[in-house]
Amino acid sequence: MSNHFETQAIRMQTERSQFSEHSTPLYLTSSFTFDDAEDMRASFAEEKEKNLYSRFSNPNTTEFINKVVAMEGAEAGYAFATGMAAVFSTFGALLKAGDHIVSCRSIFGSTHSLFTKFLPKWNIETSYFKVNETDKIESLIQPNTKILYAETPTNPAVDILDLKVLGDLAKKHNLLLVIDNCFATPYLQKPIKFGADIVIHSATKLMDGQGRVLGGIAVGKTDLIREIYLFSRNTGPAMSPFNAWVLSKSLETLAVRVEKHCENALAVAEFLENHPKVKLVKYPFLTSHPQYEIAKKQMLLGGNIVAFEVKGGVKEGRAFLNAITMCSLSANLGDTRTIVTHPASTTHSKLSVEDRLEVGITDGLVRCSVGLENVQDIISDLKQALSVI
Ligand SMILES: *Cc1c(COP(=O)(O)O)cnc(C)c1O
Repeated sequence: MSNHFETQAIRMQTERSQFSEHSTPLYLTSSFTFDDAEDMRASFAEEKEKNLYSRFSNPNTTEFINKVVAMEGAEAGYAFATGMAAVFSTFGALLKAGDHIVSCRSIFGSTHSLFTKFLPKWNIETSYFKVNETDKIESLIQPNTKILYAETPTNPAVDILDLKVLGDLAKKHNLLLVIDNCFATPYLQKPIKFGADIVIHSATKLMDGQGRVLGGIAVGKTDLIREIYLFSRNTGPAMSPFNAWVLSKSLETLAVRVEKHCENALAVAEFLENHPKVKLVKYPFLTSHPQYEIAKKQMLLGGNIVAFEVKGGVKEGRAFLNAITMCSLSANLGDTRTIVTHPASTTHSKLSVEDRLEVGITDGLVRCSVGLENVQDIISDLKQALSVI
């Protein structure tokens, strides 16, 4: 098999059935059968690689996993019902009571809730560094620190963390580096090359890319994935075969979709940067982005999320959203459809103003997940909405 990204995404396939179908069939089954008692014993003893039960494995989830493992340059993986199930199971499997996490503060809202509200119940505490303070990480490391955790680009402020710096620190201090690579996808960025031990995705976003199914995946080193697999097969957050079938098909078009998303996003970012009612635009591949050099070093293209601040505050941010006609107001991202959100009044409204500002969510910040509509139509909608505020 060629190791070209697109070819693997399209040609990696589970075995065909007796019907020689071209597209992978859907194995919508909860369990599998055995030839005899010995076949069953050997399969349960893992002396044979056989599917037993779809909470453990299923041909559709295996196909999806194998593709993402190849795309990320990982050794193994396990697929989950949602991105958050992947995040939780990774921590549940790799940590024990008394362990400590060092994490970037700019992380997905539910991951932050996991760190602050739930992991402390098992005596697992987290210390935070800000995106532009990777030089402070070493001072946060304790003897019980096990995991260094980050997302890049961050949500929703689209900041960039230097993966090489994180990889080197994890190695020096013998920590596991866990990276949520959801915003970049493996097409744009491969954290394992920089030393990540585990890479997590919410497959709900650009991997599906069409706003249909939820899914998650963790890939990385064989021994760590084995722990995550054992934890998960006993606790039950498995991906459904149907969602795996949808997602595996989606991966076939990931490269072309992401390229076009990025092309549209750059055009949108350039338009916004020159608009008088826009105070600030953050897009990793604009030279004005504070971490532009790092983004260029570790990403193929800038991604599909553009963050911008309209002049004024919450009132103007909300007025902008109300004037939008074509784009969707929705909480998802990475869809074919362009989506705009106002984090200060929605996804991040529960944060204190101080905490919100610390992660770059100013009152007028708008997050735009640029879709695949004709870019002139996207820009026209943003332009007319800006004209009314
Ligand atoms: C959406 C998202 C998640 C959670 O994924 P779900 O599939 O919604 O559970 C985790 N991390 C990031 C960066 C996300 O954008």
